[in-house]
Amino acid sequence: MSENTVYQKSKKGRMGYSFDTYEVDHMTSTDFLPENLVRKTEARLPELSEFDVVRHYTRLSKKNYSIDTHFYPLGSCTMKYNPRINEETAAQKGFSQTHPMQYQYTVQGNLCLIYELGEALKQITGMDGVSLQPCAGAHGELTGLLMIRACLTDRGNPRKKIITPDSAHGTNPASAAMCGYGIVSIKTGEDGFIDPAEVQRVMNEDCAGIMITNPSTLGIFEKNIKKIADIVHAKGGLVYMDGANLNAVVGQISMADLGVDCLHINLHKTFSTPHGGGGPGAGPVVVNNVLEPYLPVPVISKDKYGRYFADYNREKTIGRMRVFLGNFAILVRAYTYIRELGLDGIKKVSKMAVLNANYIRARLKDHYQLKYDSPSLHEVVFSDATLKGTNVKTIDVAKRIIDYGFHPPTVYFPIIVPGAIMIEPTETESKETIDDFCDAMIKIAAEIKNNPEKIIRAPETTCISRLDEVKAVKEPVLRERF
Ligand SMILES: *Cc1c(COP(=O)(O)O)cnc(C)c1O
Repeated sequence: MSENTVYQKSKKGRMGYSFDTYEVDHMTSTDFLPENLVRKTEARLPELSEFDVVRHYTRLSKKNYSIDTHFYPLGSCTMKYNPRINEETAAQKGFSQTHPMQYQYTVQGNLCLIYELGEALKQITGMDGVSLQPCAGAHGELTGLLMIRACLTDRGNPRKKIITPDSAHGTNPASAAMCGYGIVSIKTGEDGFIDPAEVQRVMNEDCAGIMITNPSTLGIFEKNIKKIADIVHAKGGLVYMDGANLNAVVGQISMADLGVDCLHINLHKTFSTPHGGGGPGAGPVVVNNVLEPYLPVPVISKDKYGRYFADYNREKTIGRMRVFLGNFAILVRAYTYIRELGLDGIKKVSKMAVLNANYIRARLKDHYQLKYDSPSLHEVVFSDATLKGTNVKTIDVAKRIIDYGFHPPTVYFPIIVPGAIMIEPTETESKETIDDFCDAMIKIAAEIKNNPEKIIRAPETTCISRLDEVKAVKEPVLRERF
C-alpha cells in the first residue's frame, strides 16, 4: 500500500531509454555555457527504468481522490464537473503557444477573449467594469479593497476599519488586514441573517465599508443586503461582496441592484475551471462606476477601429496586481463554459444547484440537525446537535463517509455553527449519486446510535487511516533528505 519515492527506488545505471550512437558532434554544457553556470557535481536525479516510472506514477494516480472519480460535496468550494471541452479550447495552439510579451497585433484573438469574458461577467453581475488579473478569490478581495481604499483616499480619508460578519470566510478579514484595515466583527442574527440594526450600530466615519458574502457561508441569501448597503453608503462607506457563492444566484440577479460596489467571482468555482491542490484559479473583480477608475492596469479595451489593446493610461489605477494578464488559460476555460451554456444555461445552473442542495436538506433533516431554519440555496449546513450524548464527533462522521466512497463535506465551517457539516452538491450531480450519498449519511446516522466504535475508527477502507493533522501542520516535511 505504501509507495517509496523515486529517489528511494533509484538504482545506479537504470534508465528509461537510450539513443544509438550520436550522428552529430557531441557537445557538453561547457561548450556553450559560461564556466560559472556549469555544475561542478552531477545533478542528483533518480535513475529508474521506464517501466518503474510508469508503474510508480500510475499507482500514485490511483490514490488520488478527485471530482473525476467521486462525489465531492465540499461545502463552499463548488466542486462541479469541469467539462472537457474547456480543456480542448485551452489547449488550442493559438491560446496555449502564445507568449505574453508578443506584440498586441499578433494576439488580437487572445485579447478579444479577455475582453469578451469581461463583458460577459459584467452582464452576469450587472456591474460596469472588470479586471481579470486576480488569480484567486482572496486575490480578488485584496484587489477590491485596494480600490476601495484608493477611492476613499481620493475623497479625503481612507478610513481605518472594515466590517465583516462572524460567518465570513477567513480570507475576508485576512484581505482587509493585508490592506491595512482593522476588523469590526458583527454577530450573525438568530435567524442566520446579518441584522441591519447591528450594521447601523457599528458603521461610522471610521469604517471604510463592509465585506458581505452573499449568498452567505450558511448558504442563505442575505435578504437585507440592500438595506445594509444603504446604511453603509449613507455613512460614506463602500460595499464589497464576496461572490464566491455566486453559483447559487448566477444569472438570477444583478449585484448592482443590491447596492454592491465591488465583488469578486471565483472562475474556479462558478465557471467550472479545475481547482484544488493549490492549482491555478482566477478571481476576477467586477465594479460599479464609482470604483471603475481604480481598476488595475492594464485594462483590456477596444479602440474605435475594433482593435483590442492593453490600456495602461489610467490616471487613478491602483497599479498592477499580477504579471501579464492573469491566468490566461483559466480564462479560456471559463469563456468556453459561458459560451457553451449561454445565458439560459447559466440561469439553469443556479436553479439546479439550489434544487440539489434542497433535496439533500429534505432527505437529511430528520437525521442531522439544521441550526438555522432559513431557506437554503446552493448548500446546506447541519450542526452536531444530534451527536450530543454520544462520543462521536463531526470529524468522525466526516471520516466515516470516506468508507462509503464519498469525499467528506466541509466540516467545522462556518464557525458559528457548532460542529458544522456543510454540504454542497452543485448542479452537475445526478439524482442517483445524491441519493447514494444521502443513503450513506442516513446509515451513518444509525451507526452513531448503534455502532459508534465503528465510526470512531474510520476510515477503514483507505490505505492509510487517520493522520496526525496537527503534526502535519506544525512539522511539515517538505523535502526528503538523503
Ligand atoms: C473559496 C472562497 C473564498 C476564497 O477563494 P480562493 O480562490 O480560494 O482564494 C473566499 N470566500 C468564500 C466564501 C469562498 O467560498
